[in-house]
Amino acid sequence: TQAIKPLIAGNWKMNGLKSALAEIGAVANGYDGALRHRVDLAICPPATLVFPAAAAAIGSGIMIGGQDCHANASGAHTGDIAAEMLFDAGAGCVIVGHSERRADHGESDGVVRAKAEAALRAGLLAIVCVGETLEERDRGVTLDIVGTQLAGSLPDTSTAATVVIAYEPVWAIGTGRTPTTEDVAKVHGFIRETLEKRFGGEGAVMRILYGGSVKPGNAAELLAVPHVNGALVGGASLKAADFLGIVAGLG
Ligand code: PEP
Repeated sequence: TQAIKPLIAGNWKMNGLKSALAEIGAVANGYDGALRHRVDLAICPPATLVFPAAAAAIGSGIMIGGQDCHANASGAHTGDIAAEMLFDAGAGCVIVGHSERRADHGESDGVVRAKAEAALRAGLLAIVCVGETLEERDRGVTLDIVGTQLAGSLPDTSTAATVVIAYEPVWAIGTGRTPTTEDVAKVHGFIRETLEKRFGGEGAVMRILYGGSVKPGNAAELLAVPHVNGALVGGASLKAADFLGIVAGLG
């Protein structure tokens, strides 16, 4: 199997005023040459901070990203932001299909796929999120749910260079609860198989991130699980020390 360079991506959600830009400088200070060689880092601040964050990250190797985008490149969609606008503001990636978007804004797999296609069209790396609810896990349908989400949310043109999958069990997000490493291994193994079936060799090297209550204290064990190629981090990405502590979990 080919070596896959891990990605640790931070999702600030609806947190961060201009003063939070200092955290990007602090992450940059801890992201030295050796580390850059071993791991990719991304930070997705709220849309209001994408432009200044990208400026703050210049030369650091840290990719700045959006947390959502519209499927269209422009038009009458008040309040929405196009992937092209994120790219223009200096973003290199965008999260699509986060469970909070799926739940709060009723985003279906089809909508998520259209957003992921928009990201690829604009030249952004798409971080496509999937994951089951607690009720679905308890019913034993986790793999069915994740399989359906993957089938419906990923563009046919997905490649390892343009798409990253984030497996985020909804019940593990912001709760301090995480699945066992065995459970993570089972789902990530299933995602890898699914990607290989659909995308062949590209599917074998697409990055699959784990997300849900990743912290410095549990990062090492989660990042060591087979087919876990990095993490999508919410709460613990807000402070540079925590975020770098998670990166250190790669060993
Ligand atoms: C997320 O929102 O993508 C996430 C994983 O959040 P947290 O790390 O806070 O659980």
